[in-house]
Amino acid sequence: MHEYSIVMSMLDLCEKHAKGKPVEKVVTKIGKMSGIEPHFLKDSFDIFKEDTVCSDASMTINLIDITIRCTDCAKEAMVDSYNFFCPHCEGGNTEVMTGQEMHIEYIELKDNQ
Ligand SMILES: [Zn+2]
Repeated sequence: MHEYSIVMSMLDLCEKHAKGKPVEKVVTKIGKMSGIEPHFLKDSFDIFKEDTVCSDASMTINLIDITIRCTDCAKEAMVDSYNFFCPHCEGGNTEVMTGQEMHIEYIELKDNQ
């Protein structure tokens, strides 16, 4: 399961960042195109956080919409699904700007001093 390895590297990062302090909250950014199923990610997190600095932490997932930028007309657009044609000029020369994220935005420690 893809989500498993994502969670493992996220926990790894929390471990490094928290330096042994308990983590209160992990806020993640997950792009709609990342291939990550938010529900599975949360479940995996709850399973694997045991015995880590995140054992009492909750995970918040911020879903990121897919946006593209057209290299022909230089406009940006939000797209649903996997239709990457520019809605302004209908050109196919677009690049994905957001929607592929899968990382931690920030973490909150219980003890903030
Ligand atoms: Zn365009």
